[in-house]
Amino acid sequence: MTLDNILEEIKKANSIVLLTHKSPDGDAIGSSLAFYIALKQFGKTADLIIEEMPRVYKFLPCANEARKIEEAKPQYDLAIALDCATEQRIEGQEEIFENAKVTISIDHHESNKMFADYNFVNPAAPACAQILIGIFEYIGIEITTDIGACILTGIITDTGGFKYSTISPETFEFTAHILSKGVDVSDIYKKVLQIKTRSHFKLSQIATARLEFLEDEKITFTYITKEDERKVEAEPGDHEGIVEIARDIEGVEVAILLRETDEGFKASLRSNGKVNVSDVCMIFGGGGHPRAAGCTLSYSLEESKQKIIAQVKANL
Ligand code: 5GP
Ligand code: MN
Repeated sequence: MTLDNILEEIKKANSIVLLTHKSPDGDAIGSSLAFYIALKQFGKTADLIIEEMPRVYKFLPCANEARKIEEAKPQYDLAIALDCATEQRIEGQEEIFENAKVTISIDHHESNKMFADYNFVNPAAPACAQILIGIFEYIGIEITTDIGACILTGIITDTGGFKYSTISPETFEFTAHILSKGVDVSDIYKKVLQIKTRSHFKLSQIATARLEFLEDEKITFTYITKEDERKVEAEPGDHEGIVEIARDIEGVEVAILLRETDEGFKASLRSNGKVNVSDVCMIFGGGGHPRAAGCTLSYSLEESKQKIIAQVKANL
């Protein structure tokens, strides 16, 4: 069984690295920190690589122990990728992953490519962090309040605050359990989901002012440029959640947001169920979940816009 292999590899490894995707969201950060703290409890020190720690997650336990890519060792015995569907998602850190003697992927994306030596993937889980609960129980790690806070962060952010259809009884059983242990669930909810930075607010004003309604108002389109982000002094993570504003408008089936990056335009798609946006994004080499997915388009803004809209239309 994969879990036995994972346990065995952790026991054997003298050096472990934890990796997650670029522009890490709450699930990426929460899962990585939870695993990092769990390994400490297990008597293992790991290197946790997070290139940019978004401001909102800096309050989490051990958040200040994350390292930059440059600080990584040339080779690890074991590399564990969390919340990544493909090796390409570990953007910029593929070499660290490939150089490791043994690799593990723990993830909840249906589109996961089973790219590691051992793959523990559960597409039914609403967050990668929720998968960790079962793994920790299996390998005998106690879910402390610190680990609980990190897992909860992943669950809250990836379920939109317990509201997506992906939630399961375990989501609430776990939340009830850590609430009874003294974790301030309300406070974490507020910090990771409710409170927005001023830059986020200004960026959402720009994006909503530009919002276009297409195909009988079933598709919305907007974008954010580097210049916009510079103007509002955006920090990593400040764009999170903006695409959801449009998805929540009555009658909208798919909301599209393009965000300018060094690689082109990063598309974020959200669906209300009719269109599988993971399928749409896979056409462009991306992926995700049926109702939340992304990909990178290496064209001009106008070309990227036309290409992604055409594919959404074809799936409507
Ligand atoms: P977001 O729009 O918040 O960046 O991402 C939504 C979902 O799609 C997340 O589950 C994320 O992991 C996935 N996703 C975003 N971009 C990509 C991508 O380029 N490739 C793949 N495979 N998944 C992506
Ligand atoms: Mn996730």
